[in-house]
Amino acid sequence: MKPCDACKALAGKPSSAPPHGDLSAMGSDARVSPASPAERYDEYRCTVCGNWMLRNTPGIWSLRNPSGASAA
Ligand SMILES: [Zn+2]
Repeated sequence: MKPCDACKALAGKPSSAPPHGDLSAMGSDARVSPASPAERYDEYRCTVCGNWMLRNTPGIWSLRNPSGASAA
């Protein structure tokens, strides 16, 4: 599944950037680890290309690669 231009443009942006217009919020969760005790992320799904994006706070937007897919 290839990310659309809007998803590609958003990946790598600071998480303070707003989601693009075709992302729908799907939920949120948090990772707790000794290195980053307060990192949380919101999950979005793109209605155009079907890819999932994670808004990591603090951090950057990232594309979630489907498991088993080889990195492009
Ligand atoms: Zn997309």
